[in-house]
Amino acid sequence: MAVLGKKSKILNLIAVAAFLIISSCKQPVKESTETKQETPAKTNVPVPAFNADSALVYLQAQVAFGPRVPGTDAHAKCADYLYQKLKSFGLQTQIQSETITTFDSKKFRLKNIIAEYKPEAKQRVLLLAHWDTRPCADHDSVRKDQPFDGANDGASGVAVLLEIARLLPASGLETGIDILFVDLEDYGQEEDDTRFPRQENTWCLGSQFWAKNMHRPDYFAQYGILLDMVGGVNPVFPKEGTSLYYAPDVLSKVWNIAQKMGYGQYFINEPAPQTIDDHLYINQLANIKTIDIVHYDNVKKEYPPYHHTHGDNLSIIDKNTLDMVGRVVLQTVFNK
Ligand SMILES: [Zn+2]
Repeated sequence: MAVLGKKSKILNLIAVAAFLIISSCKQPVKESTETKQETPAKTNVPVPAFNADSALVYLQAQVAFGPRVPGTDAHAKCADYLYQKLKSFGLQTQIQSETITTFDSKKFRLKNIIAEYKPEAKQRVLLLAHWDTRPCADHDSVRKDQPFDGANDGASGVAVLLEIARLLPASGLETGIDILFVDLEDYGQEEDDTRFPRQENTWCLGSQFWAKNMHRPDYFAQYGILLDMVGGVNPVFPKEGTSLYYAPDVLSKVWNIAQKMGYGQYFINEPAPQTIDDHLYINQLANIKTIDIVHYDNVKKEYPPYHHTHGDNLSIIDKNTLDMVGRVVLQTVFNK
């Protein structure tokens, strides 16, 4: 897989280089005396205004269902809510469903929810987040076997993308966008879980399934952006290691944009360890260069303190973080 990835990167570079050569070989169109206007290099349309209040409502609505643990009523209701919301925005929406066996030999009906903006466009960007929540607060000191709200870990990325999805149909953007809400990201086996034999690839089952069964057989996107834990207080987004390995150019582009927008103290130029998150499988299996914007404390070398605890609830949500991440993603997508 790693070799294939590298090869395709080289191929992409060759393609870009070839395009540049072709472009530069082109003779400029004979200057007309009537008009001095050159064809504009960019066909950018205005970046729509991200509404953080709207995103917050989408976050609260998910939390109100209760923990979105696979197999529960809250999970089923939230899937329906997400599907209906995306559809109501005027996007082509579908649910990809399959029975999946988890590491503890349970079976669940996996639901990936996909919405397409301009399905016919060749230039595409994939935006994704997981919408399920972890079945247990195993990092907590109390009620470790009980689920938690997942206000940040689950609901925040989905909320930002719902707000972006709402803005797309009227935006005039030429690039096609695919919004992918993946299921069963957070049902993985912890390192110290000895109840079951140690297994590989137990996290991110929804993205693994999608990458092997893409909603269009010949699907490809120029790049992908995963949002995970993008609504917390005191956010910090270092350059996550798996993103740096597979998609350093995408990472640089997004961080440069964030820094130009004045968010340099949050989108910091520090490498962070490689993590297993949905983008790993999108990179490895679907061969789409995908980065992860994820809250990670690079000093303590861990996720924020409420991660996988009952503390991951509405009290740690900051609307300004949703706003910042939403604006950065929009700016990136609209500037190509
Ligand atoms: Zn999680």
